[in-house]
Amino acid sequence: MILADVIPFAYLVATVLFILSLRWMNDPRTARQAVFAGVAAMLIAVVATWIGPEIVNHVWIVVGIVGGIVVGIPLSRVPLTAVPQRTALSHAFGGMAAGLVGVAYFYLWRSHNPQNLTPFRTGALITENILGFLTFTGSLMAAGKLQEVKWIPQRPVTYKGQNLVNMGLLIAAVVIGILVVLNPTSPLAGALFPIVVALALLFGVLLIIPIGGADMPTVIAILNSYAGLSASALGFVVNNKLLVTAGALDGSSGLILAVIMCKAMNRSFTNVLFGAFGQVQAAKASGEAKTVKSATPQDVADIMTNADRVVIIPGYGMAVAQAQHRVHELYDQLTKRGIDVKFAIHPVAGRMPGHMNVLLAEADIPYESLVEMDDINPDMAQTDVCLVVGANDVVNPAARHDKSSPIFGMPIIDADKAKTIIAIKRSMNPGFAGIDNELYYDDKTLMAFGDAKQVIGDVVKAVNGEGASTH
Ligand code: NAP
Repeated sequence: MILADVIPFAYLVATVLFILSLRWMNDPRTARQAVFAGVAAMLIAVVATWIGPEIVNHVWIVVGIVGGIVVGIPLSRVPLTAVPQRTALSHAFGGMAAGLVGVAYFYLWRSHNPQNLTPFRTGALITENILGFLTFTGSLMAAGKLQEVKWIPQRPVTYKGQNLVNMGLLIAAVVIGILVVLNPTSPLAGALFPIVVALALLFGVLLIIPIGGADMPTVIAILNSYAGLSASALGFVVNNKLLVTAGALDGSSGLILAVIMCKAMNRSFTNVLFGAFGQVQAAKASGEAKTVKSATPQDVADIMTNADRVVIIPGYGMAVAQAQHRVHELYDQLTKRGIDVKFAIHPVAGRMPGHMNVLLAEADIPYESLVEMDDINPDMAQTDVCLVVGANDVVNPAARHDKSSPIFGMPIIDADKAKTIIAIKRSMNPGFAGIDNELYYDDKTLMAFGDAKQVIGDVVKAVNGEGASTH
């Protein structure tokens, strides 16, 4: 039969496209085609599954697709700064879908095809249920924290014996799950199964509450991994090879991303998951009265046009101000004058992996001018001017020497080694880690206070000799 050949072939094509998509994501030059490859792969996967013999009720598939489109279109329109929580919501949906399919199969097979509930399949089903449902509530909590939903505390909520309670809950879910696997068709298994689901849902919530909003992007990458593993396990349950491979790709890429992020912050997995990062920082706000030097956009323009080498370090503030287009104008003006301008990219600048790359690509800044942290640091001492645009933690020298700092050990861009540093931000408020930044008090540093878009716009005007409003 022709369909029997077409479907596996379509699955193979989809798998290849998924792999290429991940590969192409590695480079900003190929990232766009990576997105198209991923979309094409998903479309092929959905159509190939739809035309398969297992789908008997097409109305429900249409309802599902329409529902997905209705929810998906507004979700795709969120501003870039809200992408981390949007991603968390996608993982919540993924986890819920895997979990619900598992529940449906369990009860369907119990009443119609009990022979399908082999120990292996039931084991995979319990595994994917626990992972899927904990991903569902965990991701919802993560999205809520990032969105700063009022009734979800941003700061870590901790209590004595918390890790013990959490581990106990997970172990209880696994033990009850094993009881279900031992005799899945018994009335007892029918009653125990919802308890496994409930414990997994509760575990997802409890897993996230001790983690501060600060660590959510890393946690989201870990939850991404859980959602992928859940889908992969579901693939074994429903005997769908594409689900196994796509889930495994999702699971492993999420894990690799989480590892990269942990390394860039010099944190361990355990520290992110159980370290309650962000809990003590509120008390650390004030210090002795120190002074900073400020500069007007005209000063900034004069200093920059007299430089030979400029390094721009973008951070979260550039994203908030949406200053990337103004930054491009400044880049054009300076390079036109023969000044060498590079962008220093920190792996965790902003609030999501690749945040700065995405913004700078959106503003059409040439990829060749973007330099990774490790490659630019050796050149910082030869840099005349370092322009820090809304970056804070990623240029905080305390990470190198202050053992008491929560960011101690995090690799940073060595902005302080440049001959002159200009920092653009609105106030002396701290960044993500909630700590003061000694860079701003450095003798070589000038603060250009204001919204990054406004300040850089004024600097560009001053560079062009149009006269800028002073701050
Ligand atoms: P940051 O430390 O959060 O600092 C951002 C700075 O931007 C703030 O100090 C803020 O100061 C300024 N700012 C905000 N809005 C602004 C505006 N409209 N105009 C000008 N300045 C503005 O940012 P970062 O240096 O990029 O560091 C990222 C932090 O996020 C790191 O601690 C990193 O570990 C963490 N993190 C990142 C990721 C990721 O994947 N990228 C994941 C997890 C954690 P004012 O309020 O004074 O303006």
